[in-house]
Amino acid sequence: MVAEVTVEKLKSRVSGGVIAAGDEGYDEARKVLNGMIDRRPRVIVQAAGIDEVVAAVDVARESGLELAVRGGAHSVPGFGTNDDGIVIDLSPMSTVTVDPERRTARAGGGTTWGAFNEATGAHGLATTGGIISTTGVGGLTLGGGIGYLARGHGLSLDNLVSAQVVTAEGRSVTASETENEDLFWALRGGGGNFGVVTEFEFRLHPVAEIYGGPLFFEKEHAGDVLRFYREFIQDAPEEFGGFPAWQIAPPLPFIPEDRHGDTFLAFVACWAGPVEEGESILKGLRDVAPVAAEHVGAMPYAALNSAFDGLYPPGLQHYWKANFVTELTDEAIDAHLEHGPSVPTVNSTMHIYPINGACQRVAGDATAFAYRDATFATVIVGAWPDPADNEANTKWVRDYYEATAPLSEEGGYVNFMAGDDQERIRANYKGNYDRLVDVKRKYDPDNLFHLNQNIKP
Ligand code: FAD
Repeated sequence: MVAEVTVEKLKSRVSGGVIAAGDEGYDEARKVLNGMIDRRPRVIVQAAGIDEVVAAVDVARESGLELAVRGGAHSVPGFGTNDDGIVIDLSPMSTVTVDPERRTARAGGGTTWGAFNEATGAHGLATTGGIISTTGVGGLTLGGGIGYLARGHGLSLDNLVSAQVVTAEGRSVTASETENEDLFWALRGGGGNFGVVTEFEFRLHPVAEIYGGPLFFEKEHAGDVLRFYREFIQDAPEEFGGFPAWQIAPPLPFIPEDRHGDTFLAFVACWAGPVEEGESILKGLRDVAPVAAEHVGAMPYAALNSAFDGLYPPGLQHYWKANFVTELTDEAIDAHLEHGPSVPTVNSTMHIYPINGACQRVAGDATAFAYRDATFATVIVGAWPDPADNEANTKWVRDYYEATAPLSEEGGYVNFMAGDDQERIRANYKGNYDRLVDVKRKYDPDNLFHLNQNIKP
C-alpha cells in the first residue's frame, strides 16, 4: 500500500519517466555501470527539471524511503541506486550551454563528460574532466575531478563557479563564492552528501587540439618508465598531463597482432600546449626505453577523452581501490612492479595520476578536497566480464592495494574508493572533516543523502 501511494504521488508531480518495479523499461532503467551492482529500487524518477527533483526529494523525505541520486551511474560501489527505495536519475538533465565570451559553461546535473567536451570543444574551450566520456560530470566533480588538464587548470571542482542545488528540505538554492558559501565549500570534494546539483557552472580554458595518446613499453622497462615519470612530472610544464597504466594490449590496429594480449606498461600522454611542441615534450619519455606500440598524434581534446571508452562498456564487474601518494618511493615502485604485471584482464589497470601543479596551489582548507599536498592519486581498477572471476580478480586488487597502501597516504580519492572504504572517510578529508560534519548538520541533518562516501551528521 505504502508502495502504491509513493509511486502515485511521484507520478502526479513528475511529468517525465516514473518507472516502478514491474513497469516496462524497469530492468533497463535500474542498470548502473558496475554489473556487480544488481539492485531493485521501488521507483526510478527520470528527472527532467528542478521541480521534478524537488518532488522526488520531498517524497523520499516524507515517505522515509531510501534515496539514491544518479548522474552518470559510474559509481563503482553503486551509490547511484538502492533496493526498494527511490532513485533520482538525472540523465535527462544533460543540456550544456556555453558562454564563449565569459569562458563559462552551464551543465545539467546529469550531463556526461562526452556531451560537455563536445559542447565546449565547439568553441575551442575545455575544463578539467574525466578521461572516459561516459562518466558523469556530477559525481566526478563533486568528489574532485582528475583528468588530463588537472596540472594546468586544477581539479574539476576548482573550476566550479556555482552550483544550483536541491537541498534535503526540497529547496533549490545557489551555491557560489558569494551565496551559501558554506555549501559551496562542502560541495567541492564532499561528494553527493549535501544535495542534488541540478546545474553546474564551470570556468573554461582555451584547449582545442592536444598532442598525445598511449605509448606502450615492455614490462621489463616499467621500472625505468615509472622512475622517469616520478622525476619528470615534478616540474614538467603544466600543459602536460598523463599517467602510467598497466595494460593488456587490446586487439587494436596500432598494436602488432602478435602482441595482442601481452601485458605492457603504457603511458597515456596529453600535451595541451602548442601542438608543434608535443614531440619535444615526449622526447624524455621516449628516451627511457624503446616504444613497442603507440597511437600518438594531434587530436581534439574530446577525442582523447573518449579514446578508451571501449574498455568500459556497461555491465562489467568492477572492484577498485585507491590512495593518494605524496612521494612515489623506490619501495612503492617495486610493489607496482610486483603486482602490476599480473593485471588480470584488458579492462583492469592501475593508474598513477599526477595532481601537482595547479591542484597544489589551492590551500588544503579552501575546498573540502583536502589532499592538496599529494603529488599523485593512484587507482587500482579491477574490471572484468564474468562474475565467475569475481573472487580471483577482487583478490588481485586487494593484494595490490595491501602492498601499496602502507607506502601511500592514509586517504584516497573518494571517487576511486570502494564500498568497503567507509572507515577511511575521515582520513580522506583530514582537517576538513569536522567542518564538513557542521555543513552536513545544517543542510542534511537526517542524512537523506547517505548513498555516497558518507559524512555522517
Ligand atoms: P553516479 O553513480 O551517478 O554518482 C556517483 C555519486 O555522485 C553518487 O553518490 C551520487 O549520488 C552522486 N551524484 C552524481 N551526480 C550528482 C548530482 N548531480 N548531484 C548530487 N550528487 C550527485 N574520476 C576522475 O576523477 N577522473 C576520471 O578520469 C575518472 N574516470 C572514470 C572512468 C570510469 C570508467 C569510472 C567507472 C569512473 C571514473 N572516475 C573518474 C570515477 C568517477 O569520478 C566516479 O565514479 C564518480 O562518482 C562518477 O560520477 P557519476 O555521476 O558518473 O556516477
